[in-house]
Amino acid sequence: MSLLRIDGAVDPHVHLRGMEWSHKATFSSETAAALAGGYTAVMDMPNTPPPTVDAPGLARKMRELGEGARCDYGVWLGADPAGAPTPETMTKLARGVCGLKLYCGHTTGTLEIDRELMGAYIKVWPGPGPLGLHAEDDMIGAFIDDLARWRKRGHICHIHSAYAVSRLRRAKEDGLPITAGVTPHHLYLTERDLDALGPKAVMKPPLGTAADREALWEGLRSGVVDMVETDHAPHTWQEKTAQPPAFGVPGLDTCLPLLVTAANEGRLPLERLQALVADAPRLLLGLPAADPDTFTLIDTKARWTVSADSLKTACGWSPFEGFELTGRVVKVVLRGRAAYVDARIVLEPGFGANLYTETAGSVADLGRGREETKASHKT
Ligand SMILES: [Zn+2]
Repeated sequence: MSLLRIDGAVDPHVHLRGMEWSHKATFSSETAAALAGGYTAVMDMPNTPPPTVDAPGLARKMRELGEGARCDYGVWLGADPAGAPTPETMTKLARGVCGLKLYCGHTTGTLEIDRELMGAYIKVWPGPGPLGLHAEDDMIGAFIDDLARWRKRGHICHIHSAYAVSRLRRAKEDGLPITAGVTPHHLYLTERDLDALGPKAVMKPPLGTAADREALWEGLRSGVVDMVETDHAPHTWQEKTAQPPAFGVPGLDTCLPLLVTAANEGRLPLERLQALVADAPRLLLGLPAADPDTFTLIDTKARWTVSADSLKTACGWSPFEGFELTGRVVKVVLRGRAAYVDARIVLEPGFGANLYTETAGSVADLGRGREETKASHKT
C-alpha cells in the first residue's frame, strides 16, 4: 500500500439536493458520498427549491444541513433574478455564506440572470466571499470586465473550453484576482462520449472537444486553472432518462480517485493534488488551513473498477461506471473522528459543522428582523 495524505479536502461546488428535492438525494446521503470520495467539506450551490437567495431560503438550508450533514459544509448565496436585496440585507447574508453565485447561462433551477443584472450584482456584492460564475463562453469576457471594473474577486466555475482557459490566462496576466475550477467530467470526457453515455454525459456547461479537454489539462498543469470542483449533481435515473434529460452528473465518489489515476498515468504530479482539492479551494473560500486532525488517506496503487454498487451517492449511477482506476480512498478523519474507514461511513448525520459560523447568528437576526418588521407593520 502506498498512502497519499491530503489535508482538509474541500469541494467548492456541489448540489447536494435535500429539502424539496430529497427524492433525488439528501444532505445525509450526499455528504456520505463526499466522505467516501475523500472530502471533508463541501459547498452547496443555491439553485435549489427553495432557492438560497434570501434569509428564509438560507435559514431553511442551514437548518436541514445542520441535521443531515456528515461532513463540514458551507453554502453559496444565489443572485436573485428578481433583483439585489438592500445593501444592509446583502451584507448580513454575505457574512453567512461562502460566496455569491451568478447563473449567467441555462442550467437546473430558476436563477438565470442577464448580463445587466450580473453587472449590478458584481457592483454591490460586499464580500468577503468570491463571486462565482456559471456561464458558457459568451459571458466569460463580460464577467472578467466587470470584475476589473468593480475590483472584485471572482471564480469561474466548471471552466470547460479552450477559449475560457485563454481568457482566464489573460485576466491573470493582467493581475486580476480571478480563479477557476474544472470538473472531473470535463477533464475525462468529451462530446464524443455522448453516443456511448447518452444522458450520463448531459450537463451544463456541456462536454467539449478533445482540444478543449487538452486545454483544461494543460491549464491544470500550468496553474492557470487553480482547482478541481466536482459540480456533483445527482438526479434520479428516471429524471436523467426523461426527455429532455436533467442536467448534471454526480462526482463526489470518484473525483479524487480519478485525479490519482491521472497522476499515476503521468498527466499530473501527485504532489499537486493537495493544492487542487484542498489548498486552492480553501484560499478561494476564505477557509483557514485544515485542522491537523482533518485528513484523507488514499492508497495510490489500489486498483478498482467504478460500478453502481461502489457509489454512496443516492442516485446510484455515474458517467464513470466501468472506468478502471488506480487510487482508492481508504480513510477519512474529520476533526479527530474517524469518518470513513474500510469502505464504511462511520460518522452520523449532524456531525458536519457549518464553516461559516457567523451564519447562525446572522440568519437568526435576519429572521427576527423580519418578524419585528411584520409586527411593527401591524401596529
Ligand atoms: Zn453546478
